[in-house]
Amino acid sequence: MMNAKLIDGSLVSSIVRNEVREDVNSWTAAGNRPPFLEVIQVGADPASTVYIGAKTRACHDVGIQTHTTHLQDTISAKELKALIRGMNENPEIDGILVQLPLPAHLSALDVIESIDYRKDVDGFHPMNVGRLAIDQPTFRSCTPAGIFELLRYYSLPVKGKHAVVVGASNIVGSPTAIMFSRENSTGKATTTICHKYTKDLTAYTITADILVVAAGSPELIRGEMVKEGVVIIDVGMTRVADETSEKGYKLVGDVHFESVEKKASWITPVPGGVGPMTVAMLMKNTLLAAKKSIYPEE
Ligand code: NAD
Repeated sequence: MMNAKLIDGSLVSSIVRNEVREDVNSWTAAGNRPPFLEVIQVGADPASTVYIGAKTRACHDVGIQTHTTHLQDTISAKELKALIRGMNENPEIDGILVQLPLPAHLSALDVIESIDYRKDVDGFHPMNVGRLAIDQPTFRSCTPAGIFELLRYYSLPVKGKHAVVVGASNIVGSPTAIMFSRENSTGKATTTICHKYTKDLTAYTITADILVVAAGSPELIRGEMVKEGVVIIDVGMTRVADETSEKGYKLVGDVHFESVEKKASWITPVPGGVGPMTVAMLMKNTLLAAKKSIYPEE
């Protein structure tokens, strides 16, 4: 019977942010202008507004300049892409981020593909995902990069372990699984990816040394589905109504914390686990974009 130690995303994210702040300071002290992040919000989805608020505050905190363009949810794909093209060509803008989800009439992939991949600080452009898949330097999408930063900070070994990723979305599950599975850079783990078509999920989760859950299904993973000593990364964040909270809701993870923490060696809480890391890694990517570290200018 184990009692899991907590993986503290608030702590690690503040360490990453401090590092970025110091790097931004030396970058500007060397005579460069501060990095600049342009955020695009289409419509007024309340969760998106909260996320953009967190990103804006983080930018101010580390010395990155930022601006949010607010657009009506009726904007056409053509108009939106024309606007993005203008930002691609603007040398004062280092990073461009389109806050997802987009309204139903817009294709996220189509819009993301119109961003210059050298400014794609979310790491969602097929060029960056493709480079991740072939183990080349790239903008790594922020949530998976944050997961690896947590594992690195706590010196939790990945090489040769069995990593099981539950969830296969383009923004979390798939890039996380790619990162675990690559042989040369981050991962070196034997990797299993599960999704909604997986039959008998427990058959896989029970064999995981590292279990990442990004399904968006509250408390999907319970104690009986994992083995003793597993490291658990809970990416899930579902808003569940809660009258006792000021906001009227609480965030619930994909892992049933009480039953799993008795068996796990390490576990991320929700909130305060993966969540804060995503924004910290966005700051890191924006600085990399400003410094042209991934794609040097010819
Ligand atoms: P998504 O809905 O795009 O994808 C969910 C994936 O999980 C799909 O591949 C689906 O097949 C799989 N899945 C769903 N139910 C399953 C089940 N019962 N068994 C096995 N697989 C199942 O979601 P997403 O955008 O990847 O986000 C997943 C969760 O992570 C959400 O709760 C989201 O809010 C959260 N999230 C958190 C952060 C963060 O902490 N920074 C960032 C992004 C997403």
